[in-house]
Amino acid sequence: MKVRFYGTRGSCPTPGPNTVKYGGNTACVLLTANNGSKLILDAGTGIRILGNELIHQQSDIHLLVTHNHYDHIQGFPFFKPIYQAGRHVHIYPAITEPNNPYAIVEQMQGSYSPIEIEMLVAELEFQFPDWARQPVMINGFRVYRQKMNHPNAGMAYLIECDTKRVAYVTDNELHAPNAATSTSDWQSFVNQVDLLIHDGQYIEADFPHKLGWGHSLISECINLAEQAQAKNLAIYSHDPQRTDSDLDNWQQKINALRLTVNAFISFEGQEVVL
Ligand SMILES: [Zn+2]
Repeated sequence: MKVRFYGTRGSCPTPGPNTVKYGGNTACVLLTANNGSKLILDAGTGIRILGNELIHQQSDIHLLVTHNHYDHIQGFPFFKPIYQAGRHVHIYPAITEPNNPYAIVEQMQGSYSPIEIEMLVAELEFQFPDWARQPVMINGFRVYRQKMNHPNAGMAYLIECDTKRVAYVTDNELHAPNAATSTSDWQSFVNQVDLLIHDGQYIEADFPHKLGWGHSLISECINLAEQAQAKNLAIYSHDPQRTDSDLDNWQQKINALRLTVNAFISFEGQEVVL
């Protein structure tokens, strides 16, 4: 299985000279199985670039959404396959609070967008599989989900394919007040995964101000990865304030820790082969 990052930024796109290396686009990751089957995670602004690639391929598109915060759906109106006649786009919404499974297209209503939903000529198929019977099969991937600790809730996913396991856990606050999912439950959920992609938006200096905002410290996601014996950790959802130089410094600090897990700051365009 291959994992490619099309957007690694949290909250808000951050173009500019200080974010060239790690990227300014928001959440989007593509999983590709050994047989070529694909699964897209989130539709932040990174999905626009992915769409430019997918328009040349004919297969159905499967998009799994963690939640409806804007940085996870904002790229969808600019995802070219939704304007291709005959294209089937399967969308798997998360459960949010309030629950709004159609938010990804409703963001295009009214004065928010010049595009009307009727202009989307692709077949958009909202899918509601029976998550009570996990795993759910999506385009050949076995998928489990777990409720995130995040304002307005949302879902994290564990995805299995080709004997490999990837956990996509963003946006999620480990040790959150009134946590929906406890730290020990997260350890079980991501136990011994080949790759843990986890929110590491904050650093110690952000606290206590940002307690309860729904994101984790870089140090917390490292602890989780170590305790769960993950093989690789992709630190994800970088804070908009974090520059390339800040993130380079964090990578150096992580390298000096001599961890068991291979921990790295994920960057836009990065591909991980499992
Ligand atoms: Zn969010």
